[in-house]
Amino acid sequence: MCGIVGYVGKRNAQNVLLDGLEKLEYRGYDSAGVALALDGGIRVVKSKGRLAELRKKLELQALAESGCGIGHTRWATHGEPNDTNSHPHVSQNGKIAVVHNGIIENYLEIREFLQQKGVQFASQTDTEVVAQLMEYCMGLPEVETVSDALYMVLHRIEGAYALGILCSDDPDHVYAARKDAP
Ligand code: GLU
Repeated sequence: MCGIVGYVGKRNAQNVLLDGLEKLEYRGYDSAGVALALDGGIRVVKSKGRLAELRKKLELQALAESGCGIGHTRWATHGEPNDTNSHPHVSQNGKIAVVHNGIIENYLEIREFLQQKGVQFASQTDTEVVAQLMEYCMGLPEVETVSDALYMVLHRIEGAYALGILCSDDPDHVYAARKDAP
């Protein structure tokens, strides 16, 4: 179980995401994190522990305002609760950030496929395969849009999930997908 939130609009996304995460904190408090679309790319701030720890980190970083972002409070299923396994998870070239509620059942198979292609993983989670696979798909010649890549990912992954996704190529949108229980 976990809580995910996404925002696009005129308000400061960081504040909206933190308000949303506060309401969802009962769903998971192993760790919390946000990803914001900023000039220069996606910025991720995340921390083991409760939301208060994330708030402290964000205050120190004093990031520029963004109108678009995603956030997560985690209840770990795959990978111990630590900073690295916290969401959002980012693809190796920083193009994609993902928050996820649920389980990707075939994550090991996808992880091995991507590792054979040279992709380096940072975490032990099932979730990271979604970010890495999406970035991989975006590099395929037949893929023209972020939605094309997302549909390809959704055909490949198995399990129950709710996903919130940011892409640095399209910084004014949050992509979302859901299957079954979450
Ligand atoms: N399976 C993911 C993880 O362990 C998401 C867990 C959740 O729904 O909080 O990070």
